[in-house]
Amino acid sequence: MAEAMTAARRPSVIWLPFQECTGCTESITRSHSPTIESLIFNVISLDYQETLMAAAGHQAEEALQQAIKDNFGKYLLIVDGSIPLGQDGAYSTIGGKSNLETLKEVAKGAAAIVAMGSCAAYGGIPKANPNPTGAVSVADVIKDKPIVNIPGCPPIPVVMTGVLAHYLTFGSLPELDKLGRPKAFYGETIHDRCYRRAFYDQGKFAKTFDDEGARNGWCLFELGCKGPVTHNACATTKWNGGTSWPVESGHGCLGCSEPDFWDAGSFYKALSMPATPLKTVGVAAAAGAAVGVAISLANRAKKGAAKAAHETTTLPDLEK
Ligand code: SF4
Ligand code: SF4
Repeated sequence: MAEAMTAARRPSVIWLPFQECTGCTESITRSHSPTIESLIFNVISLDYQETLMAAAGHQAEEALQQAIKDNFGKYLLIVDGSIPLGQDGAYSTIGGKSNLETLKEVAKGAAAIVAMGSCAAYGGIPKANPNPTGAVSVADVIKDKPIVNIPGCPPIPVVMTGVLAHYLTFGSLPELDKLGRPKAFYGETIHDRCYRRAFYDQGKFAKTFDDEGARNGWCLFELGCKGPVTHNACATTKWNGGTSWPVESGHGCLGCSEPDFWDAGSFYKALSMPATPLKTVGVAAAAGAAVGVAISLANRAKKGAAKAAHETTTLPDLEK
């Protein structure tokens, strides 16, 4: 691994920003392992990244063309942001070209593409109803290149750099799930690894953000937590160098790494699917430890059912 990552010729990486908020770039700069500095200075040749590069204007566009020419067929293309198709792409242009034009042009010479963040992976917030710009994902446009999706709004920094490190080390994309996400980071739900899970299993739920249950760290399910249907690594990697993560800070998961999370319904409405049986759990758990164990097992079975349901549905379907 060390050998691959210190190869004499550093692999070229081109990062294209489209309809985005720069949150994904901001997030990757917080990666602590590996750090973005170690990647840029020792591992990759980041030939185009508008926010981080020193060049601007024509100089930047020349750097892009040079990188495409010198590394055709070999560079890794990273995209953040969605691609607006409405009004012939006029909603977002760079150097006089629509995002669609640029993506098609640069994708031609890419060995693989990383769709960074929920906008590039699924269309994200720009695609939210009524989708005024006709936003689409990278995979909606590019059909002939390997694509790995790293969704999240934004994605977890170490997940971004971890996937890059994998690609640079092994020269291949990691194993992906059916939504094109690396299984290593998106294989489990937030709920599977949540430290509040014991309270969920006991039927102990905070009812408001400042009640006694909230102060005791009880489960946030009834406050709208989407952890049970959200695949991401927040509960294990955490954020800011492992300092904390949203549920640990007292707020439910919003489901940001799932398609169409913004349109899925209120962030503060409990998922309807497991709600009824959970009420039974709340009463029964108080009845005694033996019953509690049985319920915990039943909940595990329900979790399996929820997982199976998730395989054929998306977040909005679960909220109906
Ligand atoms: S519902 Fe949310 S807060 Fe409760 S255990 Fe699951 S992920 Fe954690
Ligand atoms: S806890 Fe949920 S909404 Fe928050 S960053 Fe993680 S996946 Fe996204």
